[in-house]
Amino acid sequence: MKHEDCIFCKIIDGEIPSAKVYEDDHVYAFLDISQVTKGHTLIIPKTHTKNIYETPAAVASELFARVPAISNAIKKTYKPIGMNLLNNNEAPADQSVFHLHIHLIPRYGENDGYSSNWITHGDDYTSDDLQQIAKDISNAIE
Ligand code: 5GP
Ligand code: ZN
Repeated sequence: MKHEDCIFCKIIDGEIPSAKVYEDDHVYAFLDISQVTKGHTLIIPKTHTKNIYETPAAVASELFARVPAISNAIKKTYKPIGMNLLNNNEAPADQSVFHLHIHLIPRYGENDGYSSNWITHGDDYTSDDLQQIAKDISNAIE
C-alpha cells in the first residue's frame, strides 16, 4: 500500500522524521513542517491514496473519524479561537504532496497567518440555476 517516492509514505514508515501527533492502524498525524499557525497538523491515511478522488469510502471514514479528537486536543492545548480544516486536491487547487491529507489549522485571530480569499458569486445564479446544478451533480454520484 506504500507508494514509492511518496514523502508521506516515508514519514509513516519513519524513513523521514516527523513530529508525530497521533498514530493508529489506519491514520498518522504529524505537524506540518511549514506551520501556518501553531499546532498546524496534517492527518493522513496509512493507505496511500493520491487525493480525495481516489479515496475509498472506508479509508475516508477512518481518516475523518480521527479528526474531532485531534482537533479537540489542539483546542485543549493551545486554546485557539477557531479551527479550519483544509484539503487540497490536484495541483491547480494547491495540492503539493500527492498523498491525501487534511490540514488542521488552529486559528488565533486576524493576521494569524491563515487567510482564505473567497469571492462569492451568489448573485450570478438564480434558484433555477442552483436546482439544475444540484441535479447535474446528483445524477453523477456513483
Ligand atoms: P498541500 O499543499 O499538498 O495541501 O500540503 C502539503 C503540506 O505538506 C505543506 O503544507 C507542506 O508544508 C507539508 N510538507 C511537505 N513536505 C513535508 C515534510 O517533509 N514534512 C512535513 N512535516 N510536512 C511536509
Ligand atoms: Zn503515500
